[in-house]
Amino acid sequence: MSVSQIVGQSRQCLSRLPALSVCSSDIPARGCQPTRKMSTKIKMADRLKGTERNVWVEFGKLAADYKAINLGQGFPDYHPPQHVLDEFAKTITSSENSLFHQYTRSYGHPHLVKTLAQLYSPIMGRQIDAMSEVMVSVGAFGILFSTIQGLVNPGDEVIIIEPYFDCYEPMVKVAGGTPVFIPLRPSKTEGTVTSHDWKLDKEELASKFSSKTKAIVFNNPNNPVGKVYKMDEVEMIADLCKKHDAVCIADEVYEWMIYSDNKHIKIATLPGMWERTITIGSAGKTFSATGWKLGWGIGPSELIQALSVLHQNSIYTCPTPIQEAVASGLDYEISVFGDQEKCYLQSLALELLPKRDMLAKVLAEVGITPTIPEGGYFMMADISKLDVEIPDDGTDDPYDFKFIRWMCKEKKLSAIPPTAFYSQGDKKLGEKFIRFCFIKNDETLEAASKVLRSWNVAVKK
Ligand code: PMP
Ligand code: GLN
Repeated sequence: MSVSQIVGQSRQCLSRLPALSVCSSDIPARGCQPTRKMSTKIKMADRLKGTERNVWVEFGKLAADYKAINLGQGFPDYHPPQHVLDEFAKTITSSENSLFHQYTRSYGHPHLVKTLAQLYSPIMGRQIDAMSEVMVSVGAFGILFSTIQGLVNPGDEVIIIEPYFDCYEPMVKVAGGTPVFIPLRPSKTEGTVTSHDWKLDKEELASKFSSKTKAIVFNNPNNPVGKVYKMDEVEMIADLCKKHDAVCIADEVYEWMIYSDNKHIKIATLPGMWERTITIGSAGKTFSATGWKLGWGIGPSELIQALSVLHQNSIYTCPTPIQEAVASGLDYEISVFGDQEKCYLQSLALELLPKRDMLAKVLAEVGITPTIPEGGYFMMADISKLDVEIPDDGTDDPYDFKFIRWMCKEKKLSAIPPTAFYSQGDKKLGEKFIRFCFIKNDETLEAASKVLRSWNVAVKK
């Protein structure tokens, strides 16, 4: 059974769950029925209001329902590297250490935090203390959650750069904070557009910082644009963090997927930034094993302690065999670092580059302008030139939502609507794009190309 069939099946199961029996009147589309006798207590907490919808749930299901070629959610439709799978099998079957099947240290399995400290110390240019400066959680998602809940007080402001990985906004709101948005704006829409053409305005960014600013979420490389920030851009953010005594939540889950001559700069390595930065990584992204859901945060012990307090009282600890396997997998990566054939961390981008270029070429051919990403494995595609009549689907959703629903149903191709990555007030900025994921088998990409080429959709002059 293929990965997308498994994902599809689990989504279908989700959709068969019994409808929520009681609901707040503003919960959309989860089959909520008003109760006969209204209870004031059997209902969701007020602080979750406004965060009910989730693009992954909705569009994952849509792709499965229509059996569409899935260039939507970001996961590979092929296996993680063999050595990591072997480590996992070894961990599970090892008769030597039965403790691999039991709870491990709350803040991260000792083997894993030591390996992470060993991997990142030279990269960060400092000796990282495995026990006090690293924390492991359920994916980068878990670290983002611990960081935001562990640091943000009601009334604090958190700056979020649009388009952004969608969970940042609800996480800040649930913590009682106020998200403050600033968009990346494409400076170019014709000819070859790259993610470097999406710019953050210096004055506009400075205007978002104030004494209320607790933190900025800095996703580099960015999902969905693929922007890899240049030194002057990273410095601009670092200088504002220092000036306003703000924390930097550096989401770097795509750190190993950097194309051509682009360089990934870790903001924590800039002068004065270590002490105010949590750098976030993901085993799911690093080893193309998103279902393993293991992530880490690295930073000064004062900040890591805040995350740890939240973590120990919520998740407590992550699965030991997965942590052990990731640790052993990273040990191997450290031992072959520098050898581009053997080192997965360094060969992944080389493997993805032709996939990126193939998708970009096909999109351009059919009149869709791609933003060529400098990093990550997503591609924003400008559909504004397509002359296609999208039927009314009876919703008030933005154009990209309607377009992808239509594309899934009629063309059997799925993608993700980027307005899910914009705040309510800025959705117009993302409406004429769709996001494709290209960490897929060549056969999948070829099948998608065939669909795109056979569209015969007119292109506006
Ligand atoms: N940050 C970004 C920018 C992402 O795209 C994702 C999705 N993988 C995450 C964090 C969450 O990563 P994980 O799957 O490790 O929870
Ligand atoms: N990070 C993945 C993406 O952007 C998916 C994350 C998720 O499913 N929540 O596609």
